Amino acid sequence: MFVGVNHHKQTIIFGAALLYDETIQTFTWLFDTFVKAMSGKKPKSILTDQDAAMSTALALKWPETSHRLCIWHIYQNAAKHLSGVFEKFKDFSKDFSSCIYDYEDEGDFLNAWNSMLEKYTLVGNDWLSRLFKIREKWALVYGRQTFCADITTTQRSESMNSCIKKYVSYKYDLLRFFQHFQRLVEDRRYEELKAEFKASQSSPTLSFPVEILKHAANVYTPKVFKVFQDELCKAYDCALHFNDEMGTISKYEVIPYGKNWKHTVTFDSTNNVTLCSCKKFEFAGILCAHALKVLSTRNVKSIPAQYILKRWTKNVKAMSAKINSSSSTNDPKLEIVRRYRELCRLHTQLATRAAGCGKAYEIVIQQLNQTFYEVDACLKEKSSQETFEVISPVMNSRSELNECINVDDDIIKVRGIKIKERVVGSSKRPKNALEKLTKKRRTRKTELQHSSSVDSICVPTTKVVPTPLSEFSQELVAVNNLSMEFPVSMVNLLQVLHCI
Ligand SMILES: [Zn+2]
Repeated sequence: MFVGVNHHKQTIIFGAALLYDETIQTFTWLFDTFVKAMSGKKPKSILTDQDAAMSTALALKWPETSHRLCIWHIYQNAAKHLSGVFEKFKDFSKDFSSCIYDYEDEGDFLNAWNSMLEKYTLVGNDWLSRLFKIREKWALVYGRQTFCADITTTQRSESMNSCIKKYVSYKYDLLRFFQHFQRLVEDRRYEELKAEFKASQSSPTLSFPVEILKHAANVYTPKVFKVFQDELCKAYDCALHFNDEMGTISKYEVIPYGKNWKHTVTFDSTNNVTLCSCKKFEFAGILCAHALKVLSTRNVKSIPAQYILKRWTKNVKAMSAKINSSSSTNDPKLEIVRRYRELCRLHTQLATRAAGCGKAYEIVIQQLNQTFYEVDACLKEKSSQETFEVISPVMNSRSELNECINVDDDIIKVRGIKIKERVVGSSKRPKNALEKLTKKRRTRKTELQHSSSVDSICVPTTKVVPTPLSEFSQELVAVNNLSMEFPVSMVNLLQVLHCI
């Protein structure tokens, strides 16, 4: 499973695959397929356990991706291979941890590593020698400059592995497995929607009523705001020493409370560029306590724009409504699926936001009316038969366009797959509110079951009863959870669940 983190710091699933084995060839296929599914995008960084075959495949296929090893797994292996050392020397764990996390300069790290080997008579230790050879994958001194959303372990992936066991059973065949896996994905999306709604309806409590915190509360999601606020609190305990000044650039030394090391921060007064040697911003996307200490001293009352990463903001999704041509594919049918998904995603966001406010609802309805007319006019003029072959049954009038918005997750099927009856209610897991709301419509939907095999996108032509406002956003949520049925071949087992 490929997992990541969203703007609410929740774990999200990018994709999943069932693998026959764990050889280099299989991982090579996996990484190739993942990139295809992500429209050619490769991750900036990836965290794995110490699997040699995976490392080799990553180096082959994603050489520009920063490959880091899970710190937790390294500790586990250290405890196994150096159990005697851990028992005999109480300070070893602290020194080992310090080598992983603390150093900002490569020379300091190498000195500390060699000192540790001599102190505990570990020079020549086979396991540590092998670990040292791959130091660039685990020592933070080599990874500080690469963004990884502050993730240093594969704990999120492990948690998701544990979570999936609540949804699926080893007794399931492949299709049933994916149906229940889809439930997991839908629940994760529902959790994100809940966090999104909560963030839009409330403001976080400020520890201090200071301007920079007010600014952070306005722009960041509650979880990210909490991280920022914690850093600001730490800043108050840091000691600051002015070091040097050259033109508009000032240099400071910042010493965290109770620590015996210092960080170097440079500040440029022309553009508020603030760089800290700990590189927390580069690593986690949030300004560190040391940089905030300097900004406070320089009387900067808001977070400089260049230090607000869009990915951590409340409005990250609202701001993503732009034509995405970079991920276009050459296959016209896949291109339609991609465009359809993108439109559904944006409309879900719009409905989620607008449904809570009468005025916002009216604005959306007015704009949609206008959009419907313009789209109708555009479609009438369009000469390409390729698009009409697939979507014209529902795209030729405004009322029928409404039907397209109201259909839910059975409308897209991958060619060549026989559709089985959907298994409902076989799990003891309590249903979430969205599932309860959509249950009745699903029952109705099964009555409208379509042909058993489809070659292209299939949209039901049965009339759909117009839904009242209270159900509108829920319908759109259901639309967003497009399910794809999977042929039993490895190539198609990977499912795109979320865009990076
Ligand atoms: Zn710092």
